[in-house]
Amino acid sequence: MRLLLVEDEIEIQNFLRRSLEEAGYQIEAASDGKTAERLAVESPFDILIVDLGLPDQDGMGLILHLRHLGVSAPVLILSARRSVDDRVLGLEQGGDDYLTKPFALAELLARLRNLLKRNSPTIGEATRLRVLDLELDLLRREATRGGQVLQLTRQEFILLEYLCRNAGRVVTRSMILDKVWGMRIQPDTNVVDVHIYRLRGKVDGAGQQPLIRTMRGVGYVLKDR
Ligand code: CA
Repeated sequence: MRLLLVEDEIEIQNFLRRSLEEAGYQIEAASDGKTAERLAVESPFDILIVDLGLPDQDGMGLILHLRHLGVSAPVLILSARRSVDDRVLGLEQGGDDYLTKPFALAELLARLRNLLKRNSPTIGEATRLRVLDLELDLLRREATRGGQVLQLTRQEFILLEYLCRNAGRVVTRSMILDKVWGMRIQPDTNVVDVHIYRLRGKVDGAGQQPLIRTMRGVGYVLKDR
């Protein structure tokens, strides 16, 4: 599940990023409205968390603008504004739920789950990815190949999810670093190669038709036919 977190208070942003990643979400974070807009139109998200008090614009305006741009993913407003008027306005202007700060993490997670459930009318489709005989259950964070459960680490699952979403297309190391590890600059490590190597060992086990192909000098592609 890809989640866009729009929060300018860096401590809250870091705390949420850590906690939500632990809960299995793949996070992109923005500290202002402009960055949020850019990220939201660059690639689709399953859900958004939006703080209302942003440095460059009001979160409410941001949500309206995103709706205008065609972003239809559910939005959880997270705000220090507690008045009934503010909450009603937030829900009327495109927010799907409203949680006031300070908040309990457990409640935030429960609300995200509810929003995701409520907003997947074809739940079987929206929460599952399938590429040939490889299947990912995004809610249960479970991957199977030919019906056999793969024992993946959290990071391997996120990596495989990214490959599945881009099946048939070449993804470069820097794209993977950016989307899976949230690093904009390629560090001097072979973290991607190591993870791909381990993932391949699990996905393309003995006797299986190999799905993860290396495009030498370019990146990787998950075969979809
Ligand atoms: Ca704020």
